Amino acid sequence: MAINWTEAQIEQIVASVMKGLKGNSPATKGEYCGAGYNGKKFIGVYDDMNDAIDAAESGYKAIRAMSLDEREKVIGVIRDLCRKEAPIMAEIGVGETKMGRVDHKTAKHMLVADKTPGTSDIAPQVKTGDFGLTLTEMAPFGVVGSITPSTNPSETVICNSIGMIAAGNGVVFNPHPNAIATSNYAVDLINRASAMAGGPKVLVSSVVKPTLDTANIMYKDPRIKLLVCTGGPGVVKSVLSSGKKAIGAGAGNPPVIVDDTADIKKAGKDIIDGCTFDNNLPCIAEKEVFAFANIASELIEAMKANGAYLITREEADKLAKVVLVEKTNPKTGISAKTVNRDCVGRDAKVLLEKIGINVGNDIRCIICEAPFEHDFVQHELMMPILPIVRVKNIDEAIDLAVKAEHGNRHTAHMHSKNIDNLTRFARAVETTIFVKNAPSYAGIGFGGEGHTTFTIAGPTGEGITSARSFTRLRRCVLAESFRII
Ligand code: NAD
Repeated sequence: MAINWTEAQIEQIVASVMKGLKGNSPATKGEYCGAGYNGKKFIGVYDDMNDAIDAAESGYKAIRAMSLDEREKVIGVIRDLCRKEAPIMAEIGVGETKMGRVDHKTAKHMLVADKTPGTSDIAPQVKTGDFGLTLTEMAPFGVVGSITPSTNPSETVICNSIGMIAAGNGVVFNPHPNAIATSNYAVDLINRASAMAGGPKVLVSSVVKPTLDTANIMYKDPRIKLLVCTGGPGVVKSVLSSGKKAIGAGAGNPPVIVDDTADIKKAGKDIIDGCTFDNNLPCIAEKEVFAFANIASELIEAMKANGAYLITREEADKLAKVVLVEKTNPKTGISAKTVNRDCVGRDAKVLLEKIGINVGNDIRCIICEAPFEHDFVQHELMMPILPIVRVKNIDEAIDLAVKAEHGNRHTAHMHSKNIDNLTRFARAVETTIFVKNAPSYAGIGFGGEGHTTFTIAGPTGEGITSARSFTRLRRCVLAESFRII
């Protein structure tokens, strides 16, 4: 569990996984849909959401009957299968969603397998005193309804499953319709792991065709005691209006400040490494930079030396017209700019081709200088496009970066050696994750300390979720005894 990778180790993991993938990955030849993969029907995936809830309830009863040791055995096999089948899930994920990168998605699954906490996360608390002993235990909620995104589909299903099972819950998933095969592959993996470890054949469940209607069945079913939603603002709002206890992991737009005390070469590399990880799909990835004017040009050169391609303001405006589209809300009649789904998570090279620029495969990020008001600064694009805003000083940097984060309180980054500047920004931005002098993924344990999650609950405050986030506290009091000193 306690793995803290260095950059070199991360590269090694990706290289070894990619070596194993070459030429004969089963996924490249595989056929998949919401119901199965390569002709094999997924276990625990139902046509009807009501059946899926029944199955999750049975799974919950089975988990309740397991000892902690038995739960850990199931989780151990989940970790093993997740490592072994990471390349398959990565390939299905890219194939199905057309977003992200196989090597990075593979590394994300490795991270989930290695750094998602298990049952050790729900250790009880004890207080003894003159009045005896009081025990506080982290109890399961029951059956959890989990809504998962298209950006980290199987990663989220597996990470949430490990935490929710460790906490003793059952789980039913309503995955993103655009990532249904990838998500349900992960549901099947959890169930295979359960059977291999001596658990029930169906421990967690999902549906073949998730829709808003299946989500609504989940919201209304009295057996679902907790809703966990990982996605954009619309879906987080809908679970928080459900009338049930809900954990909401919503959108971000992480700003990065680079001041003139930073190691500029390192900052340039770190920012491009973080921004391009899985083509910018992670919600924590760098989305816009505020650079002190006196180091901005040097920073841009450092970025260019690390695979960034600088476009002009005119080209940026042209690209903005492609990657953002005007959409009208049918209910309100109000139209607003929204990301073009065909561009989310695509390679920089592909995006540049859309405005007639051809570059080599070494280009992994598009950068441009932009004013604060530019669409690239204001919208969460989830593409390897990074605008850089020049600022005069730390006051302006903090003011604009806080505004660009839009109150999501999700993630922010800073490259600086000035502890006063670092502290001021961290205080002002109030984000769940604040990464200093490292790529964004250090914030979820990738080359940084701490456990991982793909459900970062800013709006409801659980933060970097883990097993304990999916529990309810119960107290047991024994008066006047068991204090032995
Ligand atoms: P999305 O918002 O399009 O979809 C998320 C899920 O919600 C899907 O399963 C979708 O079908 C469902 N959904 C959407 N509206 C719904 C509604 N009204 N009722 C019920 N279900 C509904 O998300 P996406 O595009 O896959 O993911 C990208 C967004 O999610 C970004 O904004 C990103 O920042 C955010 N995200 C946040 C985290 C986090 O941990 N905070 C993690 C991943 C993604």
